[in-house]
Amino acid sequence: MLFSVHFLLLCFALPLLVLCAEDYYKVRLHPSMPLSKQLTHNPQLLGVSRTAGEREIKKAYRTLSKKYHPDKNPGDETAKQKFVETAEAYEALSNPETRKIYDQYGHEGLQQHKQQGGRQQGGHDPFDLFSRFFGGGGHFGGGQRRGPNLEVQLHVPLKDFYNGADKTFEIEKQMICDACEGSGSADGHVETCSQCSGHGMVIQRHQIAPGMYQQVQMQCSKCNGKGKQVKRPCKTCGGSRVVRGKETYTVTIEKGAPKGGRIAIDSEGEQSPDYEAGDLVVTLLEKEAALWDDEKERNDGNFMKRKGKDLFWREVLSLREAWMGDWSRNLTHMDGHVIQLSRKRGEVVQPGLVEIVKGEGMPIYHEHLDAAAGEEFGSLHVEYLVVLPDKMDKSMEKEFWDVWDKHRRKAAIDLEKEQGRPKRRDEL
Ligand SMILES: [Zn+2]
Ligand SMILES: [Zn+2]
Repeated sequence: MLFSVHFLLLCFALPLLVLCAEDYYKVRLHPSMPLSKQLTHNPQLLGVSRTAGEREIKKAYRTLSKKYHPDKNPGDETAKQKFVETAEAYEALSNPETRKIYDQYGHEGLQQHKQQGGRQQGGHDPFDLFSRFFGGGGHFGGGQRRGPNLEVQLHVPLKDFYNGADKTFEIEKQMICDACEGSGSADGHVETCSQCSGHGMVIQRHQIAPGMYQQVQMQCSKCNGKGKQVKRPCKTCGGSRVVRGKETYTVTIEKGAPKGGRIAIDSEGEQSPDYEAGDLVVTLLEKEAALWDDEKERNDGNFMKRKGKDLFWREVLSLREAWMGDWSRNLTHMDGHVIQLSRKRGEVVQPGLVEIVKGEGMPIYHEHLDAAAGEEFGSLHVEYLVVLPDKMDKSMEKEFWDVWDKHRRKAAIDLEKEQGRPKRRDEL
C-alpha cells in the first residue's frame, strides 16, 4: 500500500524556485543594485533567503521539476511554462558565475553575459536537464526503461505513529555524475564506438567445420556494449557516468499510519543515464522505546504496545489495592494527556483483569476510517498485574495471621472441599 507523499522540503523549497523563476523573468528593478537589496524592498517576492546553498537549490529543482513536468500535467500550459522556468532558474543559479551575475545585475545582466560569449548557459533543453537528475531521457515512463525501486526502512518510535511526525533521513544512492552531466567524458565529447558503430554488439564468425561458419552476436568489448566511447574519461566518476552520493528526504508520517506502511517518493530511486529512476520506497517500522530516550519527558504512552488500532499496557497493583480498592493511577499518553485509572474502596480487581478504555488507543488511519464505524481511535487495553508482598515485618505478619485465622473457619469457603479434593492428612 502506498500512501501519498509530502516533502517537508516542499514547504520551504517550493517558494524558492518559483520565486527565483519569477525573479528571473520579472524583477528588473535596478540592474546596478544588488538583487538582495532590491528584494528587501519587495518582501512578497522575497519570502525566502537568497543565500540558499547548492544543495537547497538542487532539492528545489528536483521537487519542482517533477511537479511541473509536462508528463504529469498533460495539456497544462502553465505547468509546462513553470517547468521551463524552473530549468532556467536552476541553470542560472547552479553555476556560481552566472549566479553572481544574476544576483548583481539580474536577468539583463545574464543576457548580456550570454551575448558577450560567456560560457553557454541556459542553453540546455529543460528535458535534458531533467534527465541529468532522473535519467530516462527526460520523461516519465514514456516507454523508457525504468530502474528498480530503491527500498529503505525507517524506524520510527510509536509516539510518532500516534502523534504524526515529519521524519528526515539520509540515504546513499547511485546518482548521475554532476561533473560530466552523465556523459562520462571530461571534455563533454562522446564518440560513437568505432568497433561496433554504436550498436554495442558485434557479430563474430566462428569456423565450426571447414567451410562452415557460425555467426555469434557478442557484446562489443571496446565499449562494453554501450556503443559510445570517451577519449578523456571524467575525473569524478572515472567515466562510469554515475557516482555514489548522499541525499536527504523528509516523509510525513500521518497519525495512525500502519506499521509496515509504505511511502513512495516519486523517481528518487537510484539514478542512471540509461534509465528513468525508480521510486524511493520507504517502509515504516516501529522502533522499540528505550528507557534512556526522552528521560526528561518520560511518558508512559511511549512504552505501550501497539496492535493495529489498539494499545496495550500493563498496570501493577499491590495486593491491598487490588483487593480493597481506593486507588488511582495517572497514565501519561503519547501526546501528554492523562488517563486516570481508579477504583473506589471495596472494588476488587482480579489479577489478570483486562480493562478496555475506549478511545485511548491509536488514532485510526484515514484510509481505515470507513471500516471503523465512526470511531476515531482504537482502545487501550489495560491488564492488571497484582503483586503480593514478599516481605512483612514480624508484627504485621502476626496481625494478618490472626485475622485470617479468626475468619477462615467461619467465613471462608473451603476451596479444597468445594473442588472435591481429599482432605489433608493432619486434618483427618
Ligand atoms: Zn563524471
Ligand atoms: Zn563498441
